[in-house]
Order: sequence, then C-alpha cells, then structure tokens
Amino acid sequence: MTQEELFKKLIAHSKEYGFIFPSSEIYDGLSAVYDYGQMGVELKNNIKKYWWDAMTKLHENIVGIDAAIFMHPKTWEASGHVSAFNDPLIDNRDSKKRYRADVLIEDWLAKQDEKIEKEVEKARKRFGESFDEKMFRETNPRVKEHQAKRDLMHDRMAKALNDNDLNELRQIILDCEIACPISGTRNWTEVRQFNLMFETKIGSVAEGANTIYLRPETAQGIFVNFLNVQKTGRMKIPFGIAQIGKAFRNEIVARQFIFRMREFEQMEMQFFVRPGEELNWFKQWKATRMSWHRALGFGDDKYRFHDHDKLAHYANAATDIEFEFPFGFKEVEGIHSRTDFDLSQHQKYSGRKMQYFDPETGESYVPYVIETSIGVDRMVLQVLSAAFTEEKLENGEERVVLRIPAPIAPVKVAVLPLVKKDGLPEIAREIINSLKFDHNVQYDEKDSIGKRYRRQDAIGTPLCVTVDHQTLEDKTVTIRHRDTMEQHRVAIAELPAIVESEVSLRKLFAKLV
Ligand code: ATP
Repeated sequence: MTQEELFKKLIAHSKEYGFIFPSSEIYDGLSAVYDYGQMGVELKNNIKKYWWDAMTKLHENIVGIDAAIFMHPKTWEASGHVSAFNDPLIDNRDSKKRYRADVLIEDWLAKQDEKIEKEVEKARKRFGESFDEKMFRETNPRVKEHQAKRDLMHDRMAKALNDNDLNELRQIILDCEIACPISGTRNWTEVRQFNLMFETKIGSVAEGANTIYLRPETAQGIFVNFLNVQKTGRMKIPFGIAQIGKAFRNEIVARQFIFRMREFEQMEMQFFVRPGEELNWFKQWKATRMSWHRALGFGDDKYRFHDHDKLAHYANAATDIEFEFPFGFKEVEGIHSRTDFDLSQHQKYSGRKMQYFDPETGESYVPYVIETSIGVDRMVLQVLSAAFTEEKLENGEERVVLRIPAPIAPVKVAVLPLVKKDGLPEIAREIINSLKFDHNVQYDEKDSIGKRYRRQDAIGTPLCVTVDHQTLEDKTVTIRHRDTMEQHRVAIAELPAIVESEVSLRKLFAKLV
C-alpha cells in the first residue's frame, strides 16, 4: 500500500468510526473546516489533557489562562499581523488552482532529497559491507549534481523569503521547472502577498461598527495578560503561561485533511526569562518538548528538528518539531525564541509598562520569551496516522487496529457480556459502574464477541473485558489486550487497579525529562 492510499484509508476510517467529519457535510462541506465526532473529541480532549498537565502540573512555575478569541484590534497592529501575516500566493492559470509559492519550492526540495537518498540506498545495496556513504556522497557525480542544485535553490528561497522578494520566488519556481500537480503546466501567475487573518465586525449597527479579527494565534492573549498573571499569581521569572484555544487562518491551500485547517486549535506556552538567558532556555525547551512527543512511543525516528531558514526579524532562534506523516516529515510544533519583541510592541502600542522588577538583580526589564506552539489537530493527525494499522491474523482474517497509546485512547475499556441473558449483562453493568467515574468505558452486547473485539480495535480501545458463565461461578472475567490480542482471566475485584495501571497518563509522564 502506498502512503497515499494509506492516507486515504485513514481519512475514510476517521469518518466511519466517528473521529472526524467534514464540516456541514449535508451542504457538501466547507473547505478546510472539520468537525470532531464522538471518538475524535475524546481523543482530542485526552491529547489536550496530556499537554496541559505536562505544562501546568509538572512545572510549578507554569500556570494556564483562557483568553477570549476576540481582542482589541490594536493587538494585531502591535504584533505585526496586520502588516505582515502574509503568505506568498501563486496561481496556475490552467488549473485555476492556488498554491503557496514557498510550499511549492519546499516540496521540490524534498523531492531532490528523496532522489539523493535513493541513489545512496542503491549504492549501499550494490557495495554491501564495504560501502563508504560519506565518500559516495562526496564523489558520486549524480549525487553531487542533485545536491548542488538543491542547495542553490534552497539558499535562493531562504534569501527571497527574507528579502520579501516575490519576483525571485516566482523565478525559482520557473528555474526548478515546477509544474502544477493538477494541470501539469508551468503557466504561473505573479506571486502576491495574501493576509491570512479573518475579519469581522463588532457592534450591533453596521455604522460605527469596528473591524476586528478572529485571532490567528492564541499567543497574543498571553502577552496582553502578562502583567495580570505575573502580579496576581506573584510569579517570579522564569515562569510560563499556557493556553489552549481556537485560532483562525484563511489558509491559501488547505488540502491535507486536518493538517491545514482554517479553524484549528493551538496549545501555546510562553516562557518569560531574563534577557541573555533565552538561548539556554530555548535549548532546554527543545529537549523537553521532544521528549513529550517521544513518550507516546511511535518511534524516535519518526521525529526530527527542522531549524528555520527564515527567522522572523524579532526571533533569535526557531525550530520546528517535525513528524513523519504519510505525506512526509511536516511541522507539528514550533519552538521560537521571540526576544522581547511582543511585550515591547504592546508596551509601545498600549502605552502601558510591560516590565518586570527582578528582586534578585534589582533591575526592571521587559522579559524575553521562549514560545512553544503546537496544533491540537496536527497532534490528532499524528496519533491517528501512527496508530492506524491493517493486520493479517494467523487465522487468515484481517483486522484494522488503531494502536493509540492507552492513556490517550478515546475509550479505555469495553465491557462485553458473552450473551444477553443469564445475568451476564447485569454483572457487566456493575463492572462499568466500578470504572466509569475514572475512565471512559463502553458497554456492547450486540453481535458475536469476535465482531465486538474488531469494533473496539477499530476505535483503539486498549482493553476489552468479557463476562461469561464462569464469571457467575468465580467472579473472574477475561481481559483482552488490543495490541497483542492476549487474553487472561482476572478477578473482577482487581479490574480497577489493572485498568488504572494500563491507561493512566502517569505512564506517559514517567517518561518525560
Ligand atoms: P505552517 O508553516 O505549517 O503554516 P506555521 O509555521 O505558520 O505553520 P505556527 O504559526 O508556528 O505555524 O503555528 C504553530 C502550530 O500551530 C503549528 O506547528 C501547527 O501545529 C499549528 N497550525 C498552524 N497553522 C495551522 C493550520 N492551518 N491548521 C492546523 N494547525 C495549524
């Protein structure tokens, strides 16, 4: 199965089992807007809890807030979003499809990397044990040629983005001979800048109404509340403020399911530090955030850092954590050292002092900020794409199983009476009552037990508990594990402890550095 087919299957599965639906589907949907169904919302809430608790419970110097989506419009002038929150846009005249110019070039670069890797792999097979990869990369003419061209285009793109040179971006697309994937032609328009913020009006009458924006990031809600939190919480630097909330961007290209949406959710944390100490903290947060991802157990090689070529003018370091989706390595989280830019800008635009008096040094200053910013929806996609597995069983049957890490699985336990009579459903209900205050538990008595197991596998339920006639005699049940499909008998009285040890978020927290 190709990665593309896998991705298509994943989208279909997400819909079939109540994870993700296209928005307002009865009206044919709304482009790049999605709704979470009964399973999706549970998964999403668990991911949020994993993040929120890792931030606010495991760090005594991080607290949370929940700011409004609407903010005073000056906020976005101060932050630079009104003038500069743009993407370079280009249209193909034949297909009438619109693209982000930088993304077209980045995809081309990724293809060159793939070509090089293929050559290396081929040579590795040919030469066997004696293969010297470094030497091959440095001397093979084909690899050298690909690499040189790739590096040249990469440098040109980085420079064009930094200089905001739209003509040069277009020229790179032409020089790389990039064709529209739909029409196959290179009939490109000029590159234009496109502001991604959604506008709306506040006020009951149109005249006198003010234009405001749907926030394109949650971070500014944290910056404008910096002093409120610092003072009321008596916070001492270094400290952080965390927030989870919706953000809106009028994305030019929105084609990869929930990877790029126009309405999405972010989990952001701004960490306020002493000027001069920010790069140390940046390093530390890179490690902390990477270990949060890796604790999910999808494999360390599924993640990598990607340092930014184009640093925003206010940032002095920035990196992305990328995950290997079915469509390649892509950003799930950004970690940015934003200097004192945001607080200084708000100080300038609001006329209020955004300073901190440091009792240790006796100085007042505008703190520097390290930001960690991650998309909830991209995390959902990360989990679903890593978890989705089609398996052939020993008996020849096939099963689709979502190997979602147990602590974030939507349903933790399914309780299944073998038959609908003889008092078995009643015992199943009692078991549910003993678990439901702590865990999301499902009852299912319909169809054969095999079919019920398959249904639970398909939504990623880590544990199934089956009540049968032996239960009536000795108060034991069968517990079945999703991944291994192993079954064993345990006493009903032991269930709460077994379930807790398997599905608690503690399992993930214990792995964090
Ligand atoms: P990209 O380059 O993919 O557009 P970005 O660099 O603009 O992303 P940030 O502004 O750093 O993204 O936003 C932080 C995080 O918010 C991203 O890492 C991503 O997980 C999430 N995010 C950003 N835009 C979207 C979107 N349109 N849909 C879903 N998640 C998003």
